[in-house]
Amino acid sequence: MPCKLAAGNWKMNGLRADLEELRALIAAQPEPDCGVLICPPATLLAPMAAIADGSRLLLGGQDCHTGQSGAHTGDISAAMLADAGARHVILGHSERRADHGESSDLVAAKARAAHDAGLTAIICVGETEAERDAGRTLDVVLGQLRDSTPKAATAANTVIAYEPVWAIGTGRTPTLAQIAEVHDALRAAVPDAEISLLYGGSVKPGNAADIFALANVDGALVGGASLKAADFSAIIAAL
Ligand code: PGA
Repeated sequence: MPCKLAAGNWKMNGLRADLEELRALIAAQPEPDCGVLICPPATLLAPMAAIADGSRLLLGGQDCHTGQSGAHTGDISAAMLADAGARHVILGHSERRADHGESSDLVAAKARAAHDAGLTAIICVGETEAERDAGRTLDVVLGQLRDSTPKAATAANTVIAYEPVWAIGTGRTPTLAQIAEVHDALRAAVPDAEISLLYGGSVKPGNAADIFALANVDGALVGGASLKAADFSAIIAAL
């Protein structure tokens, strides 16, 4: 059975005052046996690691460079994330693919760097609304999976997140049948059948249980609803 994971992506949100939400999440963590991960902005990794010390909460980064160190102003390496307390890193999020022109080849190189630093890569794939309307969803998603995932990916170092671009931050989610169709195709295509498959895109306390009940959904990558401990705890409880 793939490992169940609730992953929170704080994106470019979070000041030190928001560390209270992390304390509340640790205090409320309703299901200690499932993996719970918060990926804060890099500025909060070290203070979060201090707070999470001794708890089961996992921390991750939201991106990394392909190298481990060097002359790359503004970039953060996988080794630095690991050093600050991260165990995971989100790679190839659609906001990085769109805002920073990241290709699947670049995502694969970042995933190799993450693996070299001992991090689990959460590789994101997902179609745009135009691609879905054109009937290209599986082509796009499976193509991104093939090109973004290192050949050596295993359940020990890789998680795949299916995030339809049109569902992110919009309050719109695919039907359960649409999610199941993509997740079933991903399960058949991943290099290791034990790799966890997360769904992401407008996951909330009200829809999490139905999504988690699908056969090949092993958890969620949650944006907006991970910022408040009460909402994220309710999603974790549905795992
Ligand atoms: P959302 O974001 O839950 O706010 O839709 C999900 C994500 O982008 O990971």
